[in-house]
Amino acid sequence: MTFVVGENCIKCKHTDCVEVCPVDCFYEGPNFLVIHPDECIDCALCEPECPVGAIFSEDELPEDQSEFLKLNAELAEIWPNITEIKESPADAEQWDGVPGKIQYLER
Ligand code: SF4
Ligand code: SF4
Repeated sequence: MTFVVGENCIKCKHTDCVEVCPVDCFYEGPNFLVIHPDECIDCALCEPECPVGAIFSEDELPEDQSEFLKLNAELAEIWPNITEIKESPADAEQWDGVPGKIQYLER
């Protein structure tokens, strides 16, 4: 099983999650982070760290975000690894909870 980064990370990207991952399996795109499903050890440490509730275990991923399972696997193969926290975008708070953010996903 793996943990999955869901839609609310898009344009929020606070990166608190990467600090706690014991196996450094987060990968960073322009405005979103993903978890590599083959590297995640299912420890659950990252889930409570996300200030916008964007991380789910695979079996608790909301149905309307099911495409994020594939998206995490696909983008983790392409994007660079991130292991240290960095400043979140200045407008992150105003994007928290905005529906339909997948249309803003940059690759
Ligand atoms: S803490 Fe949450 S919003 Fe921030 S990068 Fe991680 S998953 Fe995305
Ligand atoms: S569940 Fe654990 S291993 Fe998987 S991404 Fe989160 S912190 Fe990393």
